[in-house]
Amino acid sequence: MGNNNNNKRRKFYGNNAGAAGNNGAAGNGGSGGASNGGKTAQQNAQNGQRQQNKPQNAAGGGNGAGKNKPKNRGMNPANNANKNRNANGNNGGKNRADDGRKDTYVYELDGNVYINLTNKCSNGCEFCVRNERASYYGNYLWIRHGDPTAEKVIAELEKKDVSAYKELVFCGFGEPTYKMGEMTAIAEYAHSRGLKTRLNTNGQGNLINKRDIVPELKGKIDLVNVSLNAPDAESYQKICHSQYRLDAFPALVEFAKSCVKNGVACRFSVVDCIGAEAVESCRRLAESEGVPLYVRKYIADS
Ligand code: SF4
Repeated sequence: MGNNNNNKRRKFYGNNAGAAGNNGAAGNGGSGGASNGGKTAQQNAQNGQRQQNKPQNAAGGGNGAGKNKPKNRGMNPANNANKNRNANGNNGGKNRADDGRKDTYVYELDGNVYINLTNKCSNGCEFCVRNERASYYGNYLWIRHGDPTAEKVIAELEKKDVSAYKELVFCGFGEPTYKMGEMTAIAEYAHSRGLKTRLNTNGQGNLINKRDIVPELKGKIDLVNVSLNAPDAESYQKICHSQYRLDAFPALVEFAKSCVKNGVACRFSVVDCIGAEAVESCRRLAESEGVPLYVRKYIADS
């Protein structure tokens, strides 16, 4: 997805090493997911336990509730199984005292309406925007009070003039395919109001859900945008740190191919700042797999 951290971009793209940060959480381009981040206060989305002002690692499900130590990452399979991947050594959750702030499930950006369904992610991308910031273009996207239901999101959308938007995009501080039921219900609603839908994903939805989710996307999602990030599995894992390790990259490629084959419009995306050589490698891969490639311009951080 969208816009990542500048420092990390310099680090990971600066020498065009072939690995390639693409989409951070929450933006225009691609996937969803999570790295550590470390929220100041985080609702445990699964057991309802709440802890305040205790920096911990995020990634959705919220491990170690009640403990004030950033450990147990990966104990919950829904979370990124990797260690703290904040390349700058920062804890992105520092100083996020924001008691009283409402969670943001629906936000507007660039003429689109975005849906932030979860903070869970199977990746721990080095470049993920959420590593270092709690908000994105002024939208606070860490979810402290539990992942939203479809009804909650739809109620927010009901208040809006959706004809003003180009698309409804599933993309936030997490990987949307963790919330298939919610996503497809919201997509149906969006269609009922004449709004096109896009899914920005890390492409690991079949691994995450342990089933083929492509049939569930058909007719609900008008465009699936899969963050490619790198032209091969090793490069991908080096920067994206998937909990599925080297299985992640071939799985995301297969997922994209399956979308195309089954009539779900799909494209890979990379950001141009990965360097011309890496873009070309990604282009060759995309062409060989029969999946369109979208090379988008890097957008500076908010
Ligand atoms: S896949 Fe997950 S960790 Fe990577 S950029 Fe997207 S949200 Fe962040």
